[in-house]
Amino acid sequence: MSQLLQAIRGMNDILSGDAELWEQFEQTIRDWLAAYGYRPIRMPLVEPTALFVRAIGEVTDIVEKEMYSFEDALNGEQLTLRPEGTASCVRAVLQHNLLYGGAQRLWYMGPMFRHERPQKGRYRQFHQVGVEALGIPGPDVDAEQIAMCARLWDDLGLTGIRLEINSLGQGEERARHRADLVAYLEQHQAMLDADAQRRLHTNPLRILDTKNPALQELVNGAPKLIDYLGEASLKHFEGVQQLLRDVAIPYQINPRLVRGLDYYNLTVFEWVTDQLGAQGTVCAGGRYDGLVAQLGGKPAPACGFALGIERLLALWQEQGHRHDAPVVDAYLVHQGEAAGRFAFRVAEALRGRGFAVHLHCGGGSFKTQMKKADASGAAVALIVGDDETAVNEVSIKPLREGFEQPVTQYRVAFDELADTLGELIFPMEDDNGSL
Ligand code: ATP
Ligand code: MG
Repeated sequence: MSQLLQAIRGMNDILSGDAELWEQFEQTIRDWLAAYGYRPIRMPLVEPTALFVRAIGEVTDIVEKEMYSFEDALNGEQLTLRPEGTASCVRAVLQHNLLYGGAQRLWYMGPMFRHERPQKGRYRQFHQVGVEALGIPGPDVDAEQIAMCARLWDDLGLTGIRLEINSLGQGEERARHRADLVAYLEQHQAMLDADAQRRLHTNPLRILDTKNPALQELVNGAPKLIDYLGEASLKHFEGVQQLLRDVAIPYQINPRLVRGLDYYNLTVFEWVTDQLGAQGTVCAGGRYDGLVAQLGGKPAPACGFALGIERLLALWQEQGHRHDAPVVDAYLVHQGEAAGRFAFRVAEALRGRGFAVHLHCGGGSFKTQMKKADASGAAVALIVGDDETAVNEVSIKPLREGFEQPVTQYRVAFDELADTLGELIFPMEDDNGSL
């Protein structure tokens, strides 16, 4: 026998049970987004590499070392599996001139790919829900996106996720801060680790969110970007905070929150939990007013965020959320060739009446089939043998306690089966006439 093939490291199968939990989560997400007037958009998983280099920035972790890039063997194009969705979303909005129709509130959900070291909460294929508002300068939409997240935690019954916010100001403000920051770090160059040395002249802002404990004191003493913000940036930041206070959403200003992607300005935010170990950021986002123009569009303000689905689901389970395996209404067992054909017809007829039916396939004795029926959790077993087939009837055997109907096996005519089953399985609904 040849060796079994394995999935790629850091790219996971989501098996039944978990997959149903994902579906439940996704349904909550759809309802939540609709309540805020966001509409879905779907972009390709593969884009020209240049899109991400231009949007995310040459000297970011993602572009420097995390992208799955390859050459199209047929035409030599440089392509990349999307590491995030914002760049693709903005590309699509520009390509289809969507901003001519006014501001756009869009969302998408799906896999992203980054070549990282796999660990708990960090995978090479992971999934995000992305939410983007284009064409609105804020600060109202910034605050609304933050409030949206708070409501989602509520909808999911999640607690203990804290909000950190910061303002990255505008380009000129960051440039003045950067000059002072580099001067400060140069004075302490001997203390910097290799990563910080490398970033000192390429992306010094990123040094501020280093996870190296040895650098904490140094970065705590560094010049703070917030002290360089001008009047307009401060007013925008204060506007966001005012709206958050108005709806009683607690927040903490974290002057070291700088985000890993280059396209952000003004508002940035992260939602963080302490219950998932090192990978505690479940949601991150902010304003990216420069990106539309950077990708060749007429300048337009924009703001968005992404939820890390794996991390949120881990937290959801950590906090006790369980998903019961779905069960069918009826499990249909049968024996004999004519009975098999009759059973197939019965199953289709019942599904046509809205019942979930598991038709036993693959043969076996009545006894083993009934064991499967029991294990399935179905409310009833339906039994079709030669006797039943000959007279166009089906035997019903209730499998669960608590029915008012007789609990032993009894027969009904094929034509009456759906009505009888309805009364048996949904007696309350039937009383209300809503079946
Ligand atoms: P981190 O600092 O954890 O690497 P990031 O700044 O790279 O995060 P973003 O690009 O802002 O992350 O992505 C938004 C969210 O997507 C993160 O907050 C996280 O919840 C999730 N996420 C990012 N990378 C991964 C990954 N490799 N595996 C699982 N989830 C991820
Ligand atoms: Mg990262």
